[in-house]
Amino acid sequence: MKPLSDFEAKDLILEIGRRMYAKNYVAANDGNISCKTGAGTIWATPTGVSKGYMKADELVKMRPDGTVIQQGKLKPSSEIKMHLRVYNENPEVYGVCHAHPPVSTSFAIAGISLDKAVYPEALVNLGTVPCVHYEPPGSQGIPDSVAPYCKTHNALLLANHGALAWGPSLMDAWYRLESVEHYAMILMYTGNIIGKANVLSCEQVRELIKIREKLGITTGGLPPCCAAQATNTADVGGPGASPGLLPGGVSSADIEAVTREVLSRLLPAAPA
Ligand SMILES: [Zn+2]
Repeated sequence: MKPLSDFEAKDLILEIGRRMYAKNYVAANDGNISCKTGAGTIWATPTGVSKGYMKADELVKMRPDGTVIQQGKLKPSSEIKMHLRVYNENPEVYGVCHAHPPVSTSFAIAGISLDKAVYPEALVNLGTVPCVHYEPPGSQGIPDSVAPYCKTHNALLLANHGALAWGPSLMDAWYRLESVEHYAMILMYTGNIIGKANVLSCEQVRELIKIREKLGITTGGLPPCCAAQATNTADVGGPGASPGLLPGGVSSADIEAVTREVLSRLLPAAPA
């Protein structure tokens, strides 16, 4: 993948800022985005600006050691230290995105890692997303807490703060941040609204890891547990399914009860 020029890097940062703001991953001036160019310098978002309305002349150009080469009216964000740390820990990284997406930030506040083996996309392209311990905003503790994961993982939750993702290009970093929020949303629905998830079996996880290796992805970690037996191998409903009892001993009456429960939470109560 060819690294971007100065112009391309700035243009992509502005575009991803607009997407980040439009998707409600940030409020007000939250979040930050950076991109390493082919020359090894880093373009980053400044402090105190909405990611949805940035202009190219507001972006900051810096060396990997944090020395500012070029800036507009605004200074670099204090959170840029964690971006620089990711670039310095892993020279293969060319893009970093940080935001406070509501669902993944809620997992970060609860101190729950995103590491359940529940669907292939998350496992192959994103991998597991550990939740690192809390450090005060803008402190040196944040880059220090992120450093051990830069070569082994693709994204992290920062406790009581938000999400961070990186990749071999800024676009990859952005897609990974999107995947973090999507994965968190699915874990929230299955764990806290539907209340049930068929965790992939160890054999199914092994197959996915082989696919990941074939794609040349060597980072992402492994889920801490997988199911001994696959519970997702039979059709549920349709002509192939038994009418009363579903695989795993769940009856269709159970499913109806869960559906009623979900609907009662999602829909407003009917007026009396
Ligand atoms: Zn933040």
